[in-house]
Amino acid sequence: MGSATTSRSATAAGSALRAYGEELAAAGAAQRGGAFTDDRAADAFVKSRPEAFVIGVLFTQGIPAERAWAGPYLLAQRLGHFDLARLAAHPDAVSAAVAAPPALHRFVHTVPGWIVSAARRIDGEWGGDAASIWSAGTSLSQVVERLRAFDGIGPKKAVMASEILLRHFGAELTDVECGSVAYDVHVRRVFLRTGLVDRDTPEEIRAAAAVACPGSPGVLDLATWLVGRESCHPREPRCETCRLGGVCLRLTERSADGVGVRRGRSGRSGSDRGEP
Ligand code: SF4
Repeated sequence: MGSATTSRSATAAGSALRAYGEELAAAGAAQRGGAFTDDRAADAFVKSRPEAFVIGVLFTQGIPAERAWAGPYLLAQRLGHFDLARLAAHPDAVSAAVAAPPALHRFVHTVPGWIVSAARRIDGEWGGDAASIWSAGTSLSQVVERLRAFDGIGPKKAVMASEILLRHFGAELTDVECGSVAYDVHVRRVFLRTGLVDRDTPEEIRAAAAVACPGSPGVLDLATWLVGRESCHPREPRCETCRLGGVCLRLTERSADGVGVRRGRSGRSGSDRGEP
């Protein structure tokens, strides 16, 4: 395939992802159907309490996203409260609540420490009000940096969370053209297979996102993640039913490995937002 054809296909794939992203943003989609998790009470909890959202971000690693976002609510149920000062002061209780069967997370030794650390940070640095982290007029990149200061939130989770805040929670952030896609396994795989990039590096993927959607590259984030999660599986991509099927180069020999890719008995991916 010639480079001009490849370039046209990549442009078409970028446009299709942008259209999908704008559609999701208009619907206020958190994930599919506007919900973070299938449990309505848990979904309402994470949507209505900013501190629960931040702690939910901590859970989004190495387990299915729906299970992760249910974590804060289930933790509150087990503890009988979701008080930041009490979370901060009682790390043993948090550990026991996370680890009690069925465990709330597969990383039962790591996640409780992140939760306690986050509670201390929100309480101490943000006056107990997590929404102050993304108060109106804050720049998108500043929110990313503030979130990255939390133990357990690396660049990928910080980008994902800030894009959710912007597009789902309506956070009034500035400099949204500085946003981007999270560099996680789904995003990387889709960008590689559509021909949006030839090399799997954060720099190339961010640059390609900026070309595809110059005004607000982060619009592509959820759309790309959903395509990767639902269609562009590592071993058995569902190109025939994929939203990008008509425009994608289908370079299915390309893949991306990383933390957070789980393979079930069928060999299909069940990965979530993997690395921090
Ligand atoms: S599932 Fe197929 S059509 Fe969809 S992004 Fe992956 S390779 Fe392209």
